[in-house]
Amino acid sequence: MREFTRPNIVVSKCLGFAACRWNAEIIQADNIKKLEPYVNFIPVCPEVEIGLGIPRDPIQIVSMNGEEKLIQPASGNDLTEKMIKFTDLFLSSLDEIDGFILKSRSPSCGINDVKIYPSLETTDPISSNNSGFFGRRVLEIFPDLAINDECQLKDSKIRQDFLKKLFTRACFREGQKVNKIEDFVKRNFKNL
Ligand code: SF4
Repeated sequence: MREFTRPNIVVSKCLGFAACRWNAEIIQADNIKKLEPYVNFIPVCPEVEIGLGIPRDPIQIVSMNGEEKLIQPASGNDLTEKMIKFTDLFLSSLDEIDGFILKSRSPSCGINDVKIYPSLETTDPISSNNSGFFGRRVLEIFPDLAINDECQLKDSKIRQDFLKKLFTRACFREGQKVNKIEDFVKRNFKNL
């Protein structure tokens, strides 16, 4: 049987890898776990990495004087700088990454459905289709990689596109290490 290069994927840790959500829960994500025999997962929880405990008071994105801030309303703590610093450090440390599976709706990990609030006192968001602080940098730095959230991957078409992109990317990444095209073909298409 043909052997595929194992893609390297960064994944939000709460998606089946650790009970690290703000309420100390874990999200059972069977469709992600099913990939485990075929890929290398790199789980990360940005909120824990910046020093927030488990459980913790939730955080949210608040628009203040035209700037988006990452705030923990219960404590009033502004976590914006800490999150930006961690995100840039972590993403710049990654080597040979092929994709990301991130948690939807999270003010940290979300990629397209995150709420922004106009003030700490308001419960009605001003918009609901934004990315979180970590997810946004992922999209900016790695625009060509396979990037989706766990909700998007429930759609079979999106899941297929994600997997195609992921394995193609891993295959070509591996191919760049091989000097001769014959070696590349031999390694990736053994049974042809
Ligand atoms: S969504 Fe991201 S920051 Fe929030 S618990 Fe999951 S991994 Fe941690």
